Amino acid sequence: MTSAAWHLHRASLHANDDALGEGANVSAALPASAGVRSNAGASASDAASGPAVAKAAAEPPPYRVKTAVVEHSFSEAAQRLGLDAATTAQLTKAFAGRVDFRRDLQRGSEVSFVFRNAAGSANPQTNAQTNPQADTQTNAPASDARAAASTSTPTQPATSAGAASRTPVAVRISTGTASHDLFLYRNLAGKAFYYSADGHSAAPSFLRYPVKFTRISSHFALRRLDPVTHRIQPHEGVDLAAPVGTPVHATARGTVTWVGWKTGYGKVVMLDNFGPYSTTFAHLSRYAKHLKAGDSVRQGQVIGYVGATGWATGPHLHYEVHVDQVAQDPLTVDLPHRDPLRGADKQRFAQQVERLDALL
Ligand SMILES: [Zn+2]
Repeated sequence: MTSAAWHLHRASLHANDDALGEGANVSAALPASAGVRSNAGASASDAASGPAVAKAAAEPPPYRVKTAVVEHSFSEAAQRLGLDAATTAQLTKAFAGRVDFRRDLQRGSEVSFVFRNAAGSANPQTNAQTNPQADTQTNAPASDARAAASTSTPTQPATSAGAASRTPVAVRISTGTASHDLFLYRNLAGKAFYYSADGHSAAPSFLRYPVKFTRISSHFALRRLDPVTHRIQPHEGVDLAAPVGTPVHATARGTVTWVGWKTGYGKVVMLDNFGPYSTTFAHLSRYAKHLKAGDSVRQGQVIGYVGATGWATGPHLHYEVHVDQVAQDPLTVDLPHRDPLRGADKQRFAQQVERLDALL
């Protein structure tokens, strides 16, 4: 994804987070949330105890649950359960911050999906042509009002057949030692995203700082007199002073692209993060044990330790954030981030989780 797309994406995320008072989104969302309220109560008991008693006597049960044993991969199991490739890819991304599919997902792990059944009492607002791509925050921006309206399907209890029945409203991966759940939730601003049961977003995000530092010893600058080379050159990162040996953490999940020595940088680790982002951690005293190129790392994982290797006048971490290969100021660069659910959204979500968790 391009940087521009990510920024748009971020803009839409912010709109979601902050849009409860925003006219356009709210007016689109209100009938939807009313729909959730009126039908959801019935849904819970329907699922547990019997035939639908909502609007039409002939309505099918509101949910169906499908489970598969993983034989080869998550995507293989997901597709066996009827997910299309796009939805499978979204879920793979949504889980990526929590589950390492190569390491954690063994043969014999189980994958369960809860789907909402299409029902007769379609919300007139919903759109059977809903693009599931727009349903999670791991995707391209759904920033315009039309997209927002058209994605109102997945969390509606009653819609026409279509994306609603193909996009799972709850997903559980059971690895034998642990289980990982995600729940689709449409917020009051009218957009649907996957969250963990505690209401934290499944979206990949960035930490601002990779290290506990004592001070910023040098700022990002396009022109700087380098204290070691005594030449004017750009300083493409920020220097965070910290004692030798202070752990350095990955600021976002990613893949290790370099572990080794580079002129000037000394011992350096480079990560290719998601989207257009990559990060560099230089002047390390040492690397995390066994870290090598190709490894995937999680956000917060220790990747090395502060040092003063390379061209450094004292112990500090030189930290760079690149967006589409262009260095940006790590202290101010716009980073993907999504706040946990709060307030009324959090309460509605908790009720939904209770209902769906019982089905998994
Ligand atoms: Zn530096």
